[in-house]
Amino acid sequence: MAAHSDLLAAKRRVQYLEIAARSILNRTRPHMPFQWTINPYRGCEFGCQYCYARYTHEFLGLEDSRAFEERIFAKANVAALLRRDLPGVDRRDAIAIGTATDPYQPAERRYGRTRAILEVFLQDKGRRLSLTTKSDLILRDIPLLREVARRNVLSVNITITTVHSRLARLLEPGAPRPDLRLAAVRALADAGIRVGVFPNPILPLITDRENSLDRLARAARRAGASYFGGGPLFLMPAAQKVFFPFLEERLPRLAEAYRRQYARSAYLGPAYRKDLGERVRRVRERCGLDPAPLEYQPELWEGEEQGTLFPLH
Ligand code: SF4
Repeated sequence: MAAHSDLLAAKRRVQYLEIAARSILNRTRPHMPFQWTINPYRGCEFGCQYCYARYTHEFLGLEDSRAFEERIFAKANVAALLRRDLPGVDRRDAIAIGTATDPYQPAERRYGRTRAILEVFLQDKGRRLSLTTKSDLILRDIPLLREVARRNVLSVNITITTVHSRLARLLEPGAPRPDLRLAAVRALADAGIRVGVFPNPILPLITDRENSLDRLARAARRAGASYFGGGPLFLMPAAQKVFFPFLEERLPRLAEAYRRQYARSAYLGPAYRKDLGERVRRVRERCGLDPAPLEYQPELWEGEEQGTLFPLH
């Protein structure tokens, strides 16, 4: 009850605004698994304590550590911007939707910006697309996603850090419960949409034990996920400002260890990363899950001229 009324109080504080954007397609740095990102919103009402995207509000001059989940900006004219810029994007490039905001956060009910973006891809074909969300609001768009996936290579990543709903509520106070996210995996898989589960970020001493990852991967597999892969938490200064006080208040026995660990670097060291990578690999193999979505399914375009989809340069 207390957690529920906290959530309602937080929802009453959220302010929605529209913001002009020069472009909706952003180029990533080299060596990323995708070359372009699309983020229809700035800020995210789900308010995950560990969220790395808080820096996007600092760019707007909003330094208040909770502004990220309380002032949500919907980007204007996203469909027109995408239609304008998409012809300049190589069809071999991967485009990731929802890398610094959740594209199916509550604002999507009001603004429909993610839906508008998907409708543009419906008019295109041969694109390599992925979409990442924690929200079962994605179920609204299953018919649209199916059509986008018929014309493009689409994978949907559902992020679930833990199957424990109380821990999830603590870590991700505004996000749908893990069982609702698993139900979304099931519905997407049943609709024939390629779907996987990302346990990201994997939190040292909180969600990184092999048996925790195992439970999550088994639940993902039962729900119809085809892949499972993740990496450890990294904590940039904007994220530390929220995560450290959260630990001190709610998980105080871990606070000092985290402060010590992340004082040196936002990233954990190679030994931890290697060990965690091995754990995730073992879990994946036990559950029969792939590490990532299959890259390319030419059968999707049976009867179509591949040369028109992937022009040679
Ligand atoms: S759902 Fe993603 S973008 Fe939204 S607060 Fe959580 S981690 Fe950040």
